[in-house]
Amino acid sequence: MVISDIHGNVVALDAVLADVDLEAVDQIWCLGDLVGYGPSPNQCINRLREFSDYHCVAGNHDWAAIGRIDIVEFNPSAQMACRWTGQQLSPENRDYLERLPTRIVQGNCTLVHGSPREPVWEYIIYPSTAQLNFQFFDSHLCLVGHTHAPAVFHEETSTQKFEITIPVADQPIRIDDNRLIVNPGSVGQPRDGDPHAAYMILDEEARIIEYHRVSYDIALTQDLMLEKGLPDSLISRLAFGW
Ligand code: ZN
Repeated sequence: MVISDIHGNVVALDAVLADVDLEAVDQIWCLGDLVGYGPSPNQCINRLREFSDYHCVAGNHDWAAIGRIDIVEFNPSAQMACRWTGQQLSPENRDYLERLPTRIVQGNCTLVHGSPREPVWEYIIYPSTAQLNFQFFDSHLCLVGHTHAPAVFHEETSTQKFEITIPVADQPIRIDDNRLIVNPGSVGQPRDGDPHAAYMILDEEARIIEYHRVSYDIALTQDLMLEKGLPDSLISRLAFGW
């Protein structure tokens, strides 16, 4: 199971976890940004740490929340949410975020938050950026998050063409001999115009990726954010998936 960009939205995370048959899931891979923006940073970290075979890489918001990177380049709402998140984190969870690696290789897959070239920072939005990044990992697949928008970048090995496809929910993506950079979208703050929480199931044996969207109680997350005094712009965007 592949998830990314949870951003402290435990309502969305629970909806995603409830949507899968966890008995059938071997491992949970998270591509970073566990926290930032949302109202429940500790709950999100704790929930995922309950799973024994769970692997997570660091995202820019995870580092920002613990003061490991400067937040001057964040917009004012993100800065405010980041400071609030930092104040909420338990000492154990602060330490946990501190120890997250920036890159994990699991069999045929490389896991990073942004890109294999710049694991914490770079956004892979266009095929041209993907093209440059294929030389920065050796595995067949590279899984990335950070943009909050699901996408699959294909390297046509024979023609050296690079293309992007936007996955369609519930339609399996076949893994062929061409290498892929795959973004599962965001659990806690989708930005592709669809407010439903996104996740993927990678079935390495069947060589397919299943991509899913799940509805969750957005109003509940918004109420929690209001209660914590988080910025209005961050509260309203959840309803639009932006
Ligand atoms: Zn993010």
